[in-house]
Amino acid sequence: MTMTASILLGTDALQQVTCIACGETVAREDAREYDKYGDRWSREGKEFEYLCKPCHQDCCHQNRDGLEETLMAANAGRTDRKTFLRQYCELTADNTNSS
Ligand SMILES: [Zn+2]
Repeated sequence: MTMTASILLGTDALQQVTCIACGETVAREDAREYDKYGDRWSREGKEFEYLCKPCHQDCCHQNRDGLEETLMAANAGRTDRKTFLRQYCELTADNTNSS
């Protein structure tokens, strides 16, 4: 049982995946899962996307370039919180899609 599982895992680790940020092909075991729905725990019927390690690090330590512009565009301080959050989410989602 344990042996079978490790063989299966070994096979999976040899798969190659493509980083969605830079297009680099990396070994599955070197990649990080990226779930565009932000919910890694409900895995049913989902296809995960992958980030290579450098891009994953960028993702987790996002620089603040453009943040002020995004906040302005989302009417920060000039609209109610709910509207601002919705607009902010839409703006940042657009940024993600275009890269
Ligand atoms: Zn990458």
